[in-house]
Amino acid sequence: MQVAVLGTGIMGAGMARSLLRAGHDVRVWNRTAARAQPLADDGATVAGTPAGAVEGAEVVLVMLWDTPAVLDVLGSAAGAAPDAVWLQGSTIGADGMREVAAARPDLRLVDAPVLGTKGPAEQGTLVALLSGAPADVAAAQPAIDGYSARSVYAGERLGAASALKLVCNAWVATMNAAVGQSIALAEGLGLDPALFLEATSGGASDTPYLHMKAELIAKGEFPPSFTLAGAFKDVELIRAAARAVSVADDVLAGLVAAYGRAVAAGHGEEDMAAVYRAFPPG
Ligand code: NAP
Repeated sequence: MQVAVLGTGIMGAGMARSLLRAGHDVRVWNRTAARAQPLADDGATVAGTPAGAVEGAEVVLVMLWDTPAVLDVLGSAAGAAPDAVWLQGSTIGADGMREVAAARPDLRLVDAPVLGTKGPAEQGTLVALLSGAPADVAAAQPAIDGYSARSVYAGERLGAASALKLVCNAWVATMNAAVGQSIALAEGLGLDPALFLEATSGGASDTPYLHMKAELIAKGEFPPSFTLAGAFKDVELIRAAARAVSVADDVLAGLVAAYGRAVAAGHGEEDMAAVYRAFPPG
């Protein structure tokens, strides 16, 4: 298929490479051109404008930061591919997705956030969360299969898949903060954090996620799979969504405080595991 990717950050770049490996014809655009350029070596065509990237595309994958970025880029690109299916993959929440749908009723939009991070994006093994018209989803499925191992269809309502993404990210952001908190607590109480991993090993509360994030904390190095700034953006979206439906937000308020504190301390561009920095022992 002719696929355009708008936004080649951590996720968009990996997804573009997976689409290329799956045999699709991929055109990419990124606001900061230097970040898109390396994809030319992988076989992508690098366009200078969003409109140039989407022209002739059957599917457009939008992988940008937040709702304002999505609205801005769609505004300048939509006219160039009126018949394409537009997969909105950025994490913008159900409200953001509804705002985009209201602004672009002319487009065949599919709500298409993803689960998984840099590694699965590069390997084409993300989980695609989807909602929208079944015919549009079906038309885009060959492209979706290029970057994902499986799809979860949440229904026709645009915003349903984005709501599901918030539910999943609430879980991930909680686990990630809990890892940092328990390791800091172990250190504060004079214990080797390795004892925490040894004690939980193989039990019901053990999870590969704990080991992944604990390893980064042990090394003190946080190359980003998902940035702390991104996790902070998401916990704010999740708390707003919870409040809107009167779900108690005590835990989410703690997450917003912890992620916000670590971002304010200058760790926003590190991996989200650096939320550990919000719990400095002593
Ligand atoms: P990223 O590496 O920071 O990339 C963000 C992308 O958005 C870049 O292409 C950036 O362009 C672009 N952008 C930001 N503001 C823009 C604007 N005003 N106009 C045009 N382009 C703009 O982030 P990412 O990790 O790939 O995340 C992208 C989206 O996927 C986010 O919504 C994130 O929450 C979501 N997500 C991330 C992960 C993950 O694990 N990383 C997983 C699932 C979903 P520049 O390069 O010019 O800044």
